[in-house]
Amino acid sequence: MKLIKYILGFLLKFPNSSPDKLPIAQRDFYILKQKILKKFGTRIGYDKQKIETICVVCNGLGEVGYITCPNCTSGIWKVTWIKLAVVKLGNEEFHYPRNKFSKFRPTFKYRALIDGHIEHVKSKNWHVNCSLYVLLAFFNGKLLKKMISFHLRGFYYYNKFQSLLSRVKCRFTKDSELPF
Ligand SMILES: [Zn+2]
Repeated sequence: MKLIKYILGFLLKFPNSSPDKLPIAQRDFYILKQKILKKFGTRIGYDKQKIETICVVCNGLGEVGYITCPNCTSGIWKVTWIKLAVVKLGNEEFHYPRNKFSKFRPTFKYRALIDGHIEHVKSKNWHVNCSLYVLLAFFNGKLLKKMISFHLRGFYYYNKFQSLLSRVKCRFTKDSELPF
């Protein structure tokens, strides 16, 4: 079991670090991540995340033409607090959101305060794709199948297009240019 957790943590680390590079919808990835963490991870505590949304009227300055911005007064339009569960899986630590608060600052015991979004060290594309495919094979075969058939269909149409192109080319090639 320890080895399985270690491998899963290792594999999950790559797609988790580059959610913008995923070949599947981010929503599908986060469902997969939650599923794996709930089943194999160990919750070791909570972190508190603070996300500030800058006001679009004054662009975060707090004033418009030397008068206080009527929309926000401080430059920040909204502060969102997120209770993040910290889950250990193998050698890695992951976060997933438990609750979101925007009306008040929540009080709960937390380990660290994270200001803004979590910055990950970006992974290489093929690391992201390979580890995601392996995870999907074990946890969401249906989605993997869909992806593969989508890629194959793309390949099929690409071949069709190429053969059509060569036929058109043939038609416009003069006899003198043919190699016989
Ligand atoms: Zn403003």
